[in-house]
Amino acid sequence: MISRERLTKTFCELVSIDSPSGEEEEVRLYIQNKLSGKGFEIYVDDYGNLIATSKKSSSNNIILSAHMDTVEPGRGIIPIVDKDTISSKNDTILGGDCKAGLTGILEALDSLHEQNHVFENLTLIFTREEEVALQGARHLDFSQILGKKAIIFDGEGPPSVITNSSPTYVSFDIEIIGRAAHAGVEPEKGLSAIKIASSVINKLPQGRLDEETTFNIGKIEGGSVRNAVPANIYLEGEFRTSSIETLNDLNHSLSNVIIETQNEFKEAEINLKSEILFEKYSLSNEDSSLKLVLKSIDNLGLKPTLKGSGGGTDGNIFIKHDIESVVIGMGVRGMHTINETVSIPDVVDCANLCQDIILKNT
Ligand SMILES: [Zn+2]
Repeated sequence: MISRERLTKTFCELVSIDSPSGEEEEVRLYIQNKLSGKGFEIYVDDYGNLIATSKKSSSNNIILSAHMDTVEPGRGIIPIVDKDTISSKNDTILGGDCKAGLTGILEALDSLHEQNHVFENLTLIFTREEEVALQGARHLDFSQILGKKAIIFDGEGPPSVITNSSPTYVSFDIEIIGRAAHAGVEPEKGLSAIKIASSVINKLPQGRLDEETTFNIGKIEGGSVRNAVPANIYLEGEFRTSSIETLNDLNHSLSNVIIETQNEFKEAEINLKSEILFEKYSLSNEDSSLKLVLKSIDNLGLKPTLKGSGGGTDGNIFIKHDIESVVIGMGVRGMHTINETVSIPDVVDCANLCQDIILKNT
């Protein structure tokens, strides 16, 4: 039986372990400990991702997955349980993203193990650094993974909320090199990188551009002191879109803005670097992992909601490796904020869903 009490305890223990991206080792050991004695072969790949495979397995294994890292501010988290809701005591995130997902999976394993269930045809993947542009999944040792259908617990809201599409994500960096000079003595000898940056920023779009496209400059860094003409500026931006056409258009306009600004400020050096960090997908109704999840949602008496996401998840990477992946909610609200909360009944549903998936499909 899924135990609300045990599940709440597991969740509180998990969020009490600091695991900002890059520092997941302690959480990984906690999960390994939870898995021991349950009949899984444990494999930690070179990057530190944890892969657990049931002793009896085949290429038809079902994959359950969640990530082990959290965003900042995420150190020294103290969870507060108030009736059905868990929040963080201090000014930190709660870490429900993705520890509510980990909890749902681990509780289903605990519950089934208690009933002497023998796990078969099941693969568990726990990744590192999902929050750093899916670095863990990118470095995942796919040669060790059995199974072509994955359910990933990493969405907002209850487990009945299914993410059925995700955009392509492009990150870009702009480096602007002007010329330093004393601001009061000889400003005419300088070339302000800040002024050039403002010219670049003004020409670029910003915010939600259409239903399927967003554009943002999220970081600006540079200058040294108040009384010097600034010589260097770095900008970090991103855009996301589900349209190939818009993707090409935005890549074009970004390059054009750089060329145009370079022509305005001939003595400056402006460098642009951009990279596709993950690629879009959209699930069809024929997707077998989607069908499997819809069946279990129905078994639990829940009503499914399908919606697109502006974010990426490990699913974007798994799909590129020919693993049909569906991302579902794990009971979290306000992800990546200090107001993040977790609904205990939703995590209970998550665990029940996991249990149903395991019982009916493995
Ligand atoms: Zn997440």
